[in-house]
This record gives sequence, C-alpha cells and structure tokens, in this order.
Amino acid sequence: MDMNEKMLGRIKKSITHAMKGVFYGEHFKGIDPAGIKDRADFEKLPFTEKADLRDAYPLGLLAVDEEKVVRIHSSSGTTGQAVIIPYTQKDVDDWALMFSRCYKTAGVTALDRVHITPGYGLWTAGIGFQLGAELLGAMTIPMGPGNTDKQLKMMEDLKSTVLCATSSYALLLAEEIERRGIRNKIHLKKSLIGSERWGEKMRQRIAAELGVELYDIYGLTEIYGPGIGISCRCNSGMHMWTDYLYYEIINPKTGEQAAAGETGELVITTLEKEGAPLIRYRTHDLTRELPGPCECGLDFPRIDTLIGRSDDMVKVKGAMIYPSRVDEVLSGIAGVSSEYQIQIDHLNGRDILNLLFETGVADPAGMKALEKTVEAAFKEKIGITPEAKAVGMMELPRSEKKSTRIFDNRY
Ligand SMILES: [Zn+2]
Repeated sequence: MDMNEKMLGRIKKSITHAMKGVFYGEHFKGIDPAGIKDRADFEKLPFTEKADLRDAYPLGLLAVDEEKVVRIHSSSGTTGQAVIIPYTQKDVDDWALMFSRCYKTAGVTALDRVHITPGYGLWTAGIGFQLGAELLGAMTIPMGPGNTDKQLKMMEDLKSTVLCATSSYALLLAEEIERRGIRNKIHLKKSLIGSERWGEKMRQRIAAELGVELYDIYGLTEIYGPGIGISCRCNSGMHMWTDYLYYEIINPKTGEQAAAGETGELVITTLEKEGAPLIRYRTHDLTRELPGPCECGLDFPRIDTLIGRSDDMVKVKGAMIYPSRVDEVLSGIAGVSSEYQIQIDHLNGRDILNLLFETGVADPAGMKALEKTVEAAFKEKIGITPEAKAVGMMELPRSEKKSTRIFDNRY
C-alpha cells in the first residue's frame, strides 16, 4: 500500500516504541528509527517471523510497563511453543472499535442478534466478535463452539440474525438445519466468516442453505485477532483498517515487494499497538492488493480474498498445489461437492496423490465416470494426475475449527 510522509512518521513512532521491549531491542539492534528516511529504508528492516515470537515466549514482546497490561491472548501451540500477546486497555479498545466497524460494514445494527460460535479463552476469536458487537450495541449470544443441538435451539428461540463462525462450522450448521428441515425456524440474515481460505462452492452452499449474505472477516491473534479487515457488500476483496496498520505484499521466496496486483504474502506493521507492537510481521497469508476505490464508497484499501498460506503450498512431481486451485478445479465439475481431501504419500520411490471428493451421485457407474472427469481436469489444470475417489455426501470429516484438506504424509 502507499506510504506517505504521515504514514512513515507513524511507522517510525511504532518502531521506536517496539524497541522499548526486549524482543525488538534485540531484533533491531543498531537500527536508529530516526535514520529511516523513506519507504526503501523501511523495507530494508528485517522481517518478524512467527518463530521469532515463539522465541520471545513468554513476555519478550512486551513493550510497556506491566501495570498497563490488562489481558493476555495466545495463538495455538500445535506446531511448537505458543506465542503470548499482551494487550493494554487501549489495544483492547482499538480492537473493539475495528471490529464494530467490521459489523457496520456488513450492515449489522444495534437491532441485530449476534450468535457467536468461535471459541473463547486464550484464542482471540470469540471475545473479539463479542467486543465488537457489544460496542455496536447489538444483542450478543456468546455460544462458543460445539453442541449443535443447543446452537440450533438458541438460534431458533432467540431468533439470531447474524451468525459468526468459521466456514467449516457454518457449513456443518447449514447441513444440520437442512437435514432437520428447520430452515423456516431460522432467522439468520448475515454470516461473518473467519478468514480461513475457502472456496466459492462452499461459499455458495452456505449462502444458499442458510439463506444469508456472507462476509469474510480477516485477522490473526498476533495482530489483535479477527476484525482488522472485512469484505463489503460489493464482495470484492477485504477492506483493511489502515489507520491501525500498514501492510505490504511480498514475494514469499525472495522477500522482495510484489509488483502491483501480483499475488504474494501479506506482511503487517502495527501503528497503534502498545502491548506487543509488530513490525513487518509475516502472516504467511497469500493475497494481492486490489487497485482503486471500491464501489461501496469505503475509503480503506483492499486485499483480495485469501488464496491460501505460503506454508500450505505443496509440491508434487514438480506441480505446485494450492488449496484454492483445487477448489477452482473441482468447482468447475458438475456433480462434485465443495468438500474434498487430499492425501499425498510416497510409495515405492514415487509420490502418489489421492483425492477424495464428496458427490451426490450414488450409482457406481456414475461415480466412476466422475472420478475419471476429476482426474482429467486435474491433469489439465494442475499438471498432475491424482487417484480420484468419489465418496458420498457427509463422509469426509467436518470441523468446528479450520479444516485441513491437504495432508502431506511424505515426510
Ligand atoms: Zn467495499
């Protein structure tokens, strides 16, 4: 995004503040923020990686006196040491403000009833949805995840109008509503979906089965949490709240700036964060900058819908496979549903790609034909022939959290 004098000044102020903490004091050792004269100077600063934040465990990121800290959040430690992010009252307030702006962008008002299914606790999701909705003045229903029976009962009895969920949980609820035939008792109008990458086919199914408008909400625990950006009614990418953050799109391999409109990795610098400011933080989310103003009239720049994570990309027999490409290929084939799973194995010296997909087609000959079609489409569009296998609807696992679709079992 653009960096004018004012933005450069704000970034330098944030760097100076960050360097008061142990982590950036060390990470930026020998760097004088006053010596950063322009964008090129800023882009010479080292990136901050998630691994750096793990090394700073537990409180190495803290850049204020402890008496100012009011809350701790933590990102999941499934792949090693967790990351701890301390928040001041201002950080919590700023997050709530950004989140309430997200709701407003989605057309949610104080008369809405907001049903929140993401988890509460150390994870930032549930409480972020809660704070933003309360600030807006809406009636919040803090369900948290799980217990589908209770979710649906509350949704019916309280006439929830807005569903906040991950895409996989929204799909699970949509399918359950369909199965129980209770669609006419559900009052949902909109759904705000956490920012995991999800395909067009899944989007259409959730929208159609729940009868809602869908909005993509962006965020990550390291930078406040969800709510730092959202899609609008024009459904063309996500507006980012650039009064609180500065972002770059880089080539994930070289670290150089991506050309205008080119897909790359999103890198974020916080401008206002007190507890744990982050400078040039690599999100590993792949997207691109969208040019020009949006038709909705909102004066905040946009990034495109996420196409995946730079660490989700897998290479099989020289072909690069992104989850979003798989979605794209499958969505072009009639009879193939949105749900699939890929297992990559190494057998007898060669890589094998098994692709399981759900279909409503039930006769064996029809399923066989569909498998052949999927294999041919894969070969043509991705450059590799999978072993495709059709399975019935609902046979693949659903998840309340983010679902993994590609499993690389080779290493
Ligand atoms: Zn817009």
